Amino acid sequence: MDTSDFRKYGHDIVEWIARYFENVEKYPVKSGLLPGTIKGALPDNPPSGGESFDLFLRDFDEIIMPGITHWQSPNFFAYFPANSSPPSVLAEMLTAALGTQCMIWETSPAAAELEEKMMDWLKVMTGLPSEFEGVIQDSASSATLAALITARERATQFVSNNEGLQDAGRLRIYASAQAHSSVEKGAGVAGFGRKNLVRIPVRDDYSIDPEALEKAIENDISSGYIPCCVVATLGTTGTTAIDPLRPVGEICRKHNLWLHVDAALAGTALLLPEMRWMTDGIEYVDSLVFNPHKWMFTNFDCSAYFVRDAASLIRTFEILPEYLKTRTRGEVNDYRDWGIPLGRRFRALKLWAVIRSYGVERLQEMIREHIRLAKMLAGLIEAEKDFELMAPVPLNTVCFRYRPSGMGDAEANSLNEKINHALNDTGKLYLTHTKIGGRYIMRMVTAQTGVTEKHVMQAWDLIRDAASSLSSQDRAVDID
Ligand SMILES: *Cc1c(COP(=O)(O)O)cnc(C)c1O
Repeated sequence: MDTSDFRKYGHDIVEWIARYFENVEKYPVKSGLLPGTIKGALPDNPPSGGESFDLFLRDFDEIIMPGITHWQSPNFFAYFPANSSPPSVLAEMLTAALGTQCMIWETSPAAAELEEKMMDWLKVMTGLPSEFEGVIQDSASSATLAALITARERATQFVSNNEGLQDAGRLRIYASAQAHSSVEKGAGVAGFGRKNLVRIPVRDDYSIDPEALEKAIENDISSGYIPCCVVATLGTTGTTAIDPLRPVGEICRKHNLWLHVDAALAGTALLLPEMRWMTDGIEYVDSLVFNPHKWMFTNFDCSAYFVRDAASLIRTFEILPEYLKTRTRGEVNDYRDWGIPLGRRFRALKLWAVIRSYGVERLQEMIREHIRLAKMLAGLIEAEKDFELMAPVPLNTVCFRYRPSGMGDAEANSLNEKINHALNDTGKLYLTHTKIGGRYIMRMVTAQTGVTEKHVMQAWDLIRDAASSLSSQDRAVDID
């Protein structure tokens, strides 16, 4: 493609994107395609000669778009959001154009220095300690894995990387029963063994029980295990429960354990001074990750990983083959030493665009509004006979179920599952579920970039209608 075609199609695509943003709420939120549909529509062999880009764009519209679930729809209330925004997309286009490889400072000094500055800005924006140092990772899963490996190295006097893990099967990790699956995956990948992730019971609000944590650690010590790391969560994926960092941190300090905080979603709420109670006890924290690519309007991928002691992180990951030796080593941040991959995208650019384009105050307003919407919805659910709120709502996520009086858990489970699927099949909204204590719970996350009260109210009307019509169908079947 020459630059004149590039220019022509580039304009077309920007126009396409602008129209998409304007109309995204009209698309069926969740793609309803059957498995294999897209594969079946694609040729088995690649073209041997080049094709017109028009054909690519036609197939994008006709084949690909029907198989897209619209995460940028304001009617997307599922999982946690993966928010994008216009400034983020524009900056991402520039990142793609530069195609720069940001493994070390020399391979693009601007990328390394902008990344360092953006991590400093995020510390200012979230009130995280100024002594933390940050790096952008591709995902919270990678950041948590990096934390677990660093904790492992520290606990084994930095010999495991070299010698292999001598204490395999004895080093232990602790996290609540509600912690994200990435902790378990990391425990396996980092060589601890998945069964050495000890799941700590939760309290009524689904946050970790510090007493149970301490007991588990003490039991392990007396049985010959080596406690190594605790992963606390701010904003669990199921219900956005918030683990209390201070008591957990005191336990970590007492037993010399690494404390990693998984704040993948909730970190963004730290932009609000009124939410900073979540980081009470931050002085005990060794590392923390949060995802601007979830709630902070910065398109995937952009995960902000902060560490108190960058030297331990670098000592864990640095490796210096001859071809990567530079004259500036030691004076600058070579981020390939701050995580697992060597190659790194220029991700700081979109973060810079988002923060500058919105400004901190507008970001705060948007996040505050999302929390207000969740609390408003929680109030409506509590006030509605036959609906139950299933967890506290500290952030942007409302957990609830429909259960007319007298209905048992088993029947409520199958009814709520039916309601959830029926709602998603309408294409008008998208909700996902969790299961806690054997109960099927619908989750509604009011944090998409474009969500407004109107979208939440429409969804709530649809939910109530679906619940009452499906439960009366169920009763009709019972009578038959
Ligand atoms: C989403 C989420 C993750 C995983 O995030 P990725 O960036 O997709 O790896 C981890 N922990 C929590 C609490 C999450 O909500």
